This record gives sequence, C-alpha cells and structure tokens, in this order.
Amino acid sequence: METENTYSLQGQVALVTGAARGIGRATAAALARAGAQVAINFQSSGEAAEELAAELTAAGSKTVLAQADVSDSAQVQSMIETVEAGLGPVGILVNNAGITRDGLVMRMSEEDFDAVIATSLRGAFLCSRAVARGMMKARTGSIVNVSSVIGLRGNAGQANYAAAKAGLIGLTKSLARELGPRGVRVNAVAPGYVVTDMTAGLPENMKEQVMRNTPLGRLASPEEIASAIAFLASPAAAYITGAVLPVDGGLGI
Ligand code: NAP
Repeated sequence: METENTYSLQGQVALVTGAARGIGRATAAALARAGAQVAINFQSSGEAAEELAAELTAAGSKTVLAQADVSDSAQVQSMIETVEAGLGPVGILVNNAGITRDGLVMRMSEEDFDAVIATSLRGAFLCSRAVARGMMKARTGSIVNVSSVIGLRGNAGQANYAAAKAGLIGLTKSLARELGPRGVRVNAVAPGYVVTDMTAGLPENMKEQVMRNTPLGRLASPEEIASAIAFLASPAAAYITGAVLPVDGGLGI
C-alpha cells in the first residue's frame, strides 16, 4: 500500500509506451529522475530509444528497451515478459503511445479510423490487461493514460482521435472501479496542445488560434505533461483514482 505521500518513485518499475519521442520521452525521463527504473517501449524509433536509454543509464537509472506495436496482443505480451525479466514486475504503466490520422468524417477511411483507435485505445487496453494481474497481486500499482482535451471537447477533423481519447477516459474510469479494491489506481491526463512531432505540422494560424484560446497563452512543453503524469503515478496521488487531470494551460475551461 502507498502509505507515504511522497513524489519519489524509488524502487518502482515503470513502463512507458511510445517512450522514444515527445511526451513519452519526457515522461520516461521524469519517472527516472523520481527514482524509477524505466522500461522504454518503442515501435519504429529504435535509435532514439537507444539514445534515451543511454541518457537515463548515464544518470544512474536501470532501463530496458522493449520494442512492440501496442495494438498487437502477442507483441504486448512479449514486451511485458522482456520488461519483467529485465526489471521485475511493472508497478507503473503509462499508456502514452498514440497517432493521428486527421480528416473530416465524410472523407475519413475506415483504415484511418481503425488505426487511431487501435493504437490509443486498444493499445491501452492490451497493456493495462497485461500488467493488471501482477499489480492486483501486489496490491499496489498505478496506470496513467494519456488522453487529450480533444477527447473531452471533440474537434472537427479529428473524430477518430477524439473517439479514441474519449474512449480512454471510459477505460480509465472503468478500470479504476475494477482495480481500486485491489489497491491499484488508474488515472488520465488530458493535455492541450504540446510541442512535439505530432503538432509540428499544424498550420501556424491554427497554433496562433490555440494560443489565443489558452489562458496561459502558449503551447505546453512535453516536460509539463510529464510532471503531471509523474505526480499521478506517485504515492503523492495515493487517494486519486479515476480522475482526468487537464494539463492544458486552461484551454478546456
Ligand atoms: P509523437 O511525438 O508523435 O510520439 C508518438 C509516440 O507514439 C512515438 O513514441 C511512437 O513510437 C509511439 N507509437 C505510435 N504508434 C505506436 C504503436 N502502435 N506502438 C507503440 N508505440 C507507438 O506524439 P506526442 O505528441 O508525444 O504524443 C504522445 C501522446 O500524447 C499521444 O497519445 C497523443 O495522442 C497524446 N497527446 C498529444 C498532444 C500534443 O499536442 N502533442 C496533446 C494531447 C495528447 P515510435 O516513434 O517508436 O514509432
């Protein structure tokens, strides 16, 4: 049981999906700084994942690399085996992997709809299911899902992404109810717009419009999302479960 209200993750094993780039990378670094041993999942960014592992190892953390497509059940299972063989049972899972395939519904292909749901929503389900048994047995654990302000508000041109991110909120609340009695917490963050590869291609006028609608007047850095995730993962959040924490500069007010 998490008895001390500490931000420290000393002695904990964390798995971050999509950890080679963007928010996932900043999260892996933040969890390692807080003392966790971090498993770095990646799909295609092997080189970046190795660089991150080298960085974290140099700073004194034990890390493991685990390649897997999170939407593939067999790959998720073997990822968990790799992680547990290298670091021990997973106590913190951050379901961060996600993609966009934007387009208006009238023109959206079924493939683009399915791909976004598969990565964000099915991936989070598969990874959560794979670690839940161990967490319940240990009577402790924390899962943090990376949703989005878009999952709360919707967005023209992002019906697939909004559905996946809203689905993640339903998954978060249901899992929180299922696992809470066994001491496992499940929460979500709902970031606004963050400076990563995902938003790099947005037109300047759209970024300016977002900034105008954001009380803090700017986009977030990946580190600003990572620190909220690290908080929710930590014993400092011991009485928080089923929550959706906006990390959006006020965009969603
Ligand atoms: P990003 O820089 O584009 O990174 C996406 C990450 O997801 C990459 O590490 C990628 O891994 C991984 N990934 C994609 N498909 C995968 C799969 N099938 N299996 C495993 N990993 C997979 O995006 P980001 O901005 O950091 O986004 C991270 C999360 O935050 C996403 O869930 C996104 O929806 C959410 N989010 C982002 C923003 C934003 O404004 N950027 C706002 C709200 C929420 P590889 O490179 O190894 O393939």
